[in-house]
Amino acid sequence: MGKFDILEHDLVPEFRILNREEYQQLRKSLGIRKEDLPWIRNSDPVCLRIKEAQKSAHCPKCDGKLVESVEEREFKGVTTQKKVMKCEKCDYYEPVLGPGQILEITRRSQVAGHAVAFRYVVPG
Ligand SMILES: [Zn+2]
Repeated sequence: MGKFDILEHDLVPEFRILNREEYQQLRKSLGIRKEDLPWIRNSDPVCLRIKEAQKSAHCPKCDGKLVESVEEREFKGVTTQKKVMKCEKCDYYEPVLGPGQILEITRRSQVAGHAVAFRYVVPG
């Protein structure tokens, strides 16, 4: 993991929210749990910019509009709600950035090549 200041630019960095499988891979390759990653607050300017960008994003599959919706999951009798951005046209959806998720941030630099960092999103 490269060390760099993710706040150094005003632009929205290239980002992805890791899905469950990607998190399992990361956990295996780094040998750490998500809580061990550097934390970033949900109210951090970077997170706010990313959430703003998610609202105006289009579907990577069909370029349809993404709309916010709530997905309910039941596991062992407990129902949890998860905010997702869903495509209006196809079955694509992605989670809305929030606490408990892992953010992969990629920064491209002509000097340093590209650097990838992971942040664990915490409440607050
Ligand atoms: Zn779509």
